[in-house]
Amino acid sequence: MPDRIEQLLQNRTLPDKELKQLIETDAYDCALFARADEVRRQYYGTDVYIRGLIEFTSFCRNDCYYCGIRRSNRKARRYRLTKEEILRCCREGYALGFRTFVLQGGEDGCDTDDRMCGIVRAIRETFPDCAITLSLGERSYESYRRLFEAGADRYLLRHETANEAHYRRLHPAELSAGRRKQCLWDLKEIGYQVGAGFMVGSPFQTTENLIEDLRFLQELKPAMIGIGPFIPHKDTPFADFAGGSLKQTLRMVAILRLMFPYALIPATTALGTIHPRGRELGLQAGANVVMPNLSPANVRGKYELYNNKIYTGEESAQGLERLKKKAAAAGYRIVTARGDVFGYKKTDVCNGHL
Ligand code: SAH
Repeated sequence: MPDRIEQLLQNRTLPDKELKQLIETDAYDCALFARADEVRRQYYGTDVYIRGLIEFTSFCRNDCYYCGIRRSNRKARRYRLTKEEILRCCREGYALGFRTFVLQGGEDGCDTDDRMCGIVRAIRETFPDCAITLSLGERSYESYRRLFEAGADRYLLRHETANEAHYRRLHPAELSAGRRKQCLWDLKEIGYQVGAGFMVGSPFQTTENLIEDLRFLQELKPAMIGIGPFIPHKDTPFADFAGGSLKQTLRMVAILRLMFPYALIPATTALGTIHPRGRELGLQAGANVVMPNLSPANVRGKYELYNNKIYTGEESAQGLERLKKKAAAAGYRIVTARGDVFGYKKTDVCNGHL
């Protein structure tokens, strides 16, 4: 077993130089994935948590250069689900066994605190045994607090890149890494289980940027870490950039598992999009969450963050069975538990990082 991986396993961290070597070569991949899988089994056994993803609005006021539903994309098809439609998705999901609902959308001006709190409260009342996860982008402290009081438990907000200069190359001037990070700190302080993360292979990304991402995560100690390959969308300024690779994404998943043994790490839709077995490979590299789509079939194609997004039907009753079989074939078991991560065990505390 290469020393570097042993060191990462023992210390939950590595100096920049060694991390750089791990990230930049495929020489360690086999050992890295095997160790990540071991650690994942130590902490979670073979359990894979499922989250029902409800993409409830494709309107967005932001203009992120990589994203297909950015404001300036006139070709994007816009839709917004009503509270009733969202509740219907939850009901269907509940019947299938989902116990976490993830409400994700663009930053839609119509999603006032009153509207969103009303939706959260309705889900909370109807499904008291379920976790409610929000992914609504940047909001004020007060807004996050009200949504938490209304019954939301978790919040996903990828930091996208921890490096300010890199952040500015991916976003228009009104958005900043500093503000994004502040939102994550706010969410944490309020009491949410917080999810951060980044795209792998986004335009202009360097290995140093990825290392900075890992350092930021060590500081933040999120409960969830979502990463996926960047995938170009034809109607965005980044249409002609190359996408992130499967290998590098899997490598980052494995490194994350070794650095954050307790974390909930999804095998993302983007990973499933760039390779037919992407999600299973993600699980085998240390991921332990999948997020099937529960949005109504007629809007699914419209929430197009990137091209060729998969619609495998694995969210339907039959599809879920297929997903279970695929996971089982890869060595894992889909479970319906809420799967909360509240804190960090003493044993995770190492070198002051965790
Ligand atoms: N408005 C919410 C949800 C954004 S969509 C928010 O701001 O958090 C969820 C994630 O999809 C983003 O955080 C981004 O990392 C990812 N994403 C967007 N465009 C993408 C692309 N072209 N390729 C891969 N991932 C993309």
